[in-house]
Amino acid sequence: MIERENPARFEEIVGSVPVSTPDAVDEIVRRADAEQRRWAALPLPDRLAALTHAAAAIENAIDDLATLLARESGKVLADCRGELGFAVRFLRWVAGRAIGVYADQAVDDDLGRLVHLRKPYGVVAAVTPWNAPVILAMLKIAPALAAGNAIVVKPSPLAPLTISRVAGLFDAPVRVVHGGAETGAALVGHELVRKVAFTGGTAGGRAVAALAGDRLTPSVLELGGNDPAVFLDDAPLADDAMDRLVMATFATSGQVCMAAKRLYVPEARLDDFVAAYLAAADRVLVTGDPLVPGVTMGPVISAAAQRSAAAFRVPAALDLGRFDADPDTGYFVRPALVVSPDPASPLVTTEQFAPVVPVLGYRDENAVLTAANTGDLGLGASVWSADEERAFEFARRFEAGFTFVNTHNRTGMSLRAPFGGVKRSGWGREYADEGLLEYVQTCVIHAPAAFRPGAAPTGTGPSAYPAG
Ligand code: NAD
Repeated sequence: MIERENPARFEEIVGSVPVSTPDAVDEIVRRADAEQRRWAALPLPDRLAALTHAAAAIENAIDDLATLLARESGKVLADCRGELGFAVRFLRWVAGRAIGVYADQAVDDDLGRLVHLRKPYGVVAAVTPWNAPVILAMLKIAPALAAGNAIVVKPSPLAPLTISRVAGLFDAPVRVVHGGAETGAALVGHELVRKVAFTGGTAGGRAVAALAGDRLTPSVLELGGNDPAVFLDDAPLADDAMDRLVMATFATSGQVCMAAKRLYVPEARLDDFVAAYLAAADRVLVTGDPLVPGVTMGPVISAAAQRSAAAFRVPAALDLGRFDADPDTGYFVRPALVVSPDPASPLVTTEQFAPVVPVLGYRDENAVLTAANTGDLGLGASVWSADEERAFEFARRFEAGFTFVNTHNRTGMSLRAPFGGVKRSGWGREYADEGLLEYVQTCVIHAPAAFRPGAAPTGTGPSAYPAG
């Protein structure tokens, strides 16, 4: 049994779920496989109606679900409402978009008749992290179901409760199994799983990719990031921009894949930047119980996360914002800014996933791009400037899957924009049409012109295509 405590009051048990044994995983995947055949046989509009229905059911339950999510994850209530609201919007967006994206594409011309079909894979395995457990599962559930797949989700044992309730609101083949790495491995390695979608950290991603690779099962991987935020020399240090930047770092206590995790500022502006950052934190950053109105940052997720965050808080770290929390009764960490740390220190070179952020000075743009692009991770980035053209030119040189201009992460994320990392931050995309296409296989039916009924006899006939 997994008992989930409230990270803000760790003596309070929020709920529990049974661990799925390998036999239980096997039974659920087999059931999902049988259901998938019936589901895929339904007309696409009927499947999309089920998504729309689930969106309404989630919306109707949003108050209860958001409170449960805040209690199991330590995320502030407003962010939990935002996450669930986004899941509803995403479901509706997929329901509207799928007809066009999954439609057959046909051409009939002097080369012949060609039809591209979009077919489901079968059973999709989704393995997801704790930090946005509803939306990160929904990014897989909605397109997988729309395309005619069944899906089995294995959420993180650190946040299994809300996503289980949400999955129960679907009248469609979505199932949930529970546990840690062992349950994940039993699911991903199952012989009937035909597609894997993983979101999480590098180590888990490597293990899941290896298991999927062993079976030649295609996989989508969304992994960690160490996002740089680069202020150019003309970037205004205006209150609203600094407020956005502070929350782009400290939302979910810094435990967001695309949080601003390294800040780069021209050396000549470093003092002014630090003063503006501290002032912004005083305005917008309040650490405390996630259910209390006005709190903008809750605890970290676990005792292990609390210990690892404490290790980043070097003695010179500058405390940020208001701290209305007790680190002895909840996994709270006082948020901090570390000015000019050693660029080779783990706070700069690794994904800290904690409410401690470094700021480093730089001399010229080539040097800061080299620093920003250093390392294996290439998820997100941001560039801040008074001149949008200059920012876009600079942004082209980032090695990142997604670059923001004058914001980072929270504001302005658009469903039109495919999201995903480069380098070792992931394979594949979520959101947008690219994300929908991850859940279909393209099959082709082709009648070459030379062999169509009524065509002049040509023997084996000429080929319009190269051999191979
Ligand atoms: P994690 O990798 O520890 O766990 C993710 C999921 O994988 C969990 O369900 C876990 O139980 C499972 N898992 C872990 N090891 C496994 C194994 N060997 N075999 C099978 N399953 C395994 O990640 P986490 O701590 O839950 O989440 C934090 C990480 O996720 C961070 O690195 C963060 O950047 C990343 N993340 C990425 C995105 C994105 O879209 N790129 C979004 C959110 C979080």
